[in-house]
Amino acid sequence: MAKYDRFLWREKTTLIALAAAASSFIAGLMLPVNPQGSDPEILLSPTEKMGHHTPEKSGIDILALKAQRDEAFVKVFSRLEQEAQDRRLMVSVPTQFQGKTFQEVTLSSKEKVIALTFDDGPWPKSTLEVLEILKKNNIKATFFMVGKNVKNFPHLARQVSLDGHAIGNHTWSHLYHRFNETGASSEIDRTSDMIYQTTGIKTTLFRPPGGHLKNGLAAYAHKKNYAVVMWSSDSRDYSRPSVPLFIKHALTGITPGGIVLMHDGGGNRDHTVRALPQLITEYKKRGYRFVTVPELMEMQDKEVKLAAAAKSASPKAQSAAPKTQPAAPKTE
Ligand SMILES: [Zn+2]
Repeated sequence: MAKYDRFLWREKTTLIALAAAASSFIAGLMLPVNPQGSDPEILLSPTEKMGHHTPEKSGIDILALKAQRDEAFVKVFSRLEQEAQDRRLMVSVPTQFQGKTFQEVTLSSKEKVIALTFDDGPWPKSTLEVLEILKKNNIKATFFMVGKNVKNFPHLARQVSLDGHAIGNHTWSHLYHRFNETGASSEIDRTSDMIYQTTGIKTTLFRPPGGHLKNGLAAYAHKKNYAVVMWSSDSRDYSRPSVPLFIKHALTGITPGGIVLMHDGGGNRDHTVRALPQLITEYKKRGYRFVTVPELMEMQDKEVKLAAAAKSASPKAQSAAPKTQPAAPKTE
């Protein structure tokens, strides 16, 4: 009887371990990157963790358990990825934007769309405050995340994705110095891996810290076919301006297809949070609606394809074809 009990106990601990592993992922608290320092091995001793009686010799096959756990992790990853696809967050970058830098997109329709972007997060308090404002206004935005912040605040990164926003890569450590290829790979690849492991999103967007395009990072991103996303309007919120000044900056130079730079992380972002609702109202007053950066790219791509189709269908249509080239980058 005692032997049978022990067998049951063994099965139970295995299940508990797998359930704990899976739920940690689902909650975005991915164990290998949990800032609280959770060790995956802790999962292998759930009895201690849960305060249950531990048999003197548990008889747990650690290797088999690890294999089962890995399998559970893979399942969770593919579910996260599927979820991200379902929310249309995995839009691949159209060919014309791959390996290119742009500040805005060119829409021949002149449709009044604009992309709000938030850099340097995820960040305690301000990321959730920004998410709340966006949700109230039914707006989807684009967040360029810093890898180490995703590692430190995985639940916030996951919330951004759950709310349906697009996510881009903003390097691992947000440094401005020059990078060789190995250094750039570490900054960019590690961040994309972390974003994927945390949210299920394989990002193809990159924004260089400080907008520096000549220090090796953008060159590496181009090589890897990322779309390097700059901006056409800068709120200059890093200087913590008053609400009227913030709005003045953010409205300057705004055009259909424009991209607005703001920050939800990297420091105190109270000013951004305070000004954002009013800024949204101002854009709306001017007739703008809000889309993500991938949606902007898709819109231009669609126009280009329609124009190409029209051109091949009728040579006469050529002169009426819209301007189809992506906005020329300021630098590089
Ligand atoms: Zn930044």
